[in-house]
Amino acid sequence: MTFEALGLNTSIIKALTDSGYTAPTPVQQQAIPAAIAGKDLLVSSQTGSGKTAAFMLPSLHRLFASEPAAAGKTPNQEMQAARARGERPRFKAAQPKMLVLTPTRELALQVTTNTDKYSVNLRRIKAVSILGGMPYPKQMQLLAKNPEILVATPGRLIDHMESGKIDFSQLEILVLDEADRMLDMGFIDDIEKIVEATPSTRQTMLFSATLDGVVGNMARRITKDPQVIQI
Ligand code: AMP
Repeated sequence: MTFEALGLNTSIIKALTDSGYTAPTPVQQQAIPAAIAGKDLLVSSQTGSGKTAAFMLPSLHRLFASEPAAAGKTPNQEMQAARARGERPRFKAAQPKMLVLTPTRELALQVTTNTDKYSVNLRRIKAVSILGGMPYPKQMQLLAKNPEILVATPGRLIDHMESGKIDFSQLEILVLDEADRMLDMGFIDDIEKIVEATPSTRQTMLFSATLDGVVGNMARRITKDPQVIQI
């Protein structure tokens, strides 16, 4: 099995080859074609199985590898233009296309680093981590660049959502990574609130060590006709 056979764009495959990936792992073989087709996914898989690429590669393919260059100004540019017109600029909320929720800062940073690696040959992809413990002014600067991809821990993301810094109306893809750990850490209410703020037309992919019990219930509530993948 090759990455080409899974239907990924050649710019993405070149980045994989340059990173030393020669063949897709089992979870990638099953998840990538289904996700490219737009299916919701429920995946039970462990850390080390290659799950980050299993959700990020098809997402990059869908969102960025086949679209014309994005038109329009970034929020930063709009604020500068407003100043030039003598108006007082208003902070414009970031409008990400993809959100990845993770239980910990370490995992969020790993996802962001891998995303940068997979998207080196794609136009203007910005992935930004929004994490508890990071200074707010720094995060405001990152959000003002209107990143296409947000990777976040739930608590801090809620803070920014509630203060109007993030608008999820343009969100196309939602990923819950290590969902069982997020629930163990008590993030269920935050996750529900975040999911409610996203369009019901989104694609949802949930990864978890187990798909039983509380996680299974939530998974079925937030996905539509999901493809279930057990590795
Ligand atoms: P993950 O399960 O997403 O934490 O990935 C575990 C490790 O495997 C990471 O260091 C990835 O960069 C690496 N990896 C993921 N997919 C592949 C692949 N198809 N070939 C080689 N390495 C991979």
